[in-house]
Amino acid sequence: MTDETDLEDHSHIPRPASIVTVKEFRKSQEASSSSQDLESDGSSVDSFDDESNNTRASVSCSSSSRILLPPLVSDDADSAEQLRKGVEQQRVEDVKFLEDKNDLCNLLNFQNYPGCHTIKSPVVGSRAAELLIVKKAMKFEAVLEKLQEAIYKDYFIYLIPIEKKDEADEIARELFLNYISKYTIYGCTERNIVEWCYSGMPGCTSNKVHIYDVENEWNTWRVHALVEARHGNHNEKYYRYLPPHIVAYHELMHVEETPHKAGEITGKENGNELLTVIKTIILLDIVYKKIYGVEEASEINYNQFIITNGTKISLGRFANFYREQEKKLGNCT
Ligand SMILES: [Zn+2]
Repeated sequence: MTDETDLEDHSHIPRPASIVTVKEFRKSQEASSSSQDLESDGSSVDSFDDESNNTRASVSCSSSSRILLPPLVSDDADSAEQLRKGVEQQRVEDVKFLEDKNDLCNLLNFQNYPGCHTIKSPVVGSRAAELLIVKKAMKFEAVLEKLQEAIYKDYFIYLIPIEKKDEADEIARELFLNYISKYTIYGCTERNIVEWCYSGMPGCTSNKVHIYDVENEWNTWRVHALVEARHGNHNEKYYRYLPPHIVAYHELMHVEETPHKAGEITGKENGNELLTVIKTIILLDIVYKKIYGVEEASEINYNQFIITNGTKISLGRFANFYREQEKKLGNCT
């Protein structure tokens, strides 16, 4: 029974270190510098881990008693110091985030990720001003919106007979290389200025420009031009062929027209297809004429007509008219 009595009387058994509160321990320190009750049981006290974590009360009862206590905010001076340290830490983290973003802009750019253009790319936004003028004009000139609607049809871009595919590819590639030559000094090439892919889904995954506008520690704003590389861009219905390099030219124009930090496009945006489609028709007309050795000024009868705002114009005439306008006026950049 002596044992049972001993067990019931817990007063002499030191509690495990983990349940001695800071407050209790401080009190005991004030009451007795010798900390007698703690020293009475060395085995328990020794279980304190005085090295592992300085945010927890930690003691050692050797002759050189050490006490590590959590930092306490005892007065205004301490509060101010804590605040200052917090602000400083946040500043360091902010600077690091900006440095990381800078790295991301380089890392996710076209040199490493073909077809991707971050704000460090010379391509993205280079013709944004031009599109902005078109969009502003569209607000007052309904005819422009109607024109875009009238020309944005797939049968206007399938103009080359399928049997002329190889010649068309060669000429289209030449036109594309000539266009991107202005970016050569920045390291842009035929292989990296757009991404050539084999998705098998042109119009859905490929032959499109995707905008990524989420900013975080592993992602930064960029525009991604994906072009279907396979030589299968033909339309069986029209027995006509669309060279991939003309598509690449078109998509690259979208990259150029996209302003820095533009949001993801969630629907059909007015004006986005006006300049790109007009240029695509001009280019296809040039390819066609080169294949057949026709003079540039001649008007080709594609048996296609653009009908808008009560007028009807042949596709061949439309191509000639806008090619001459472009020569005279250039672009707005
Ligand atoms: Zn387009």
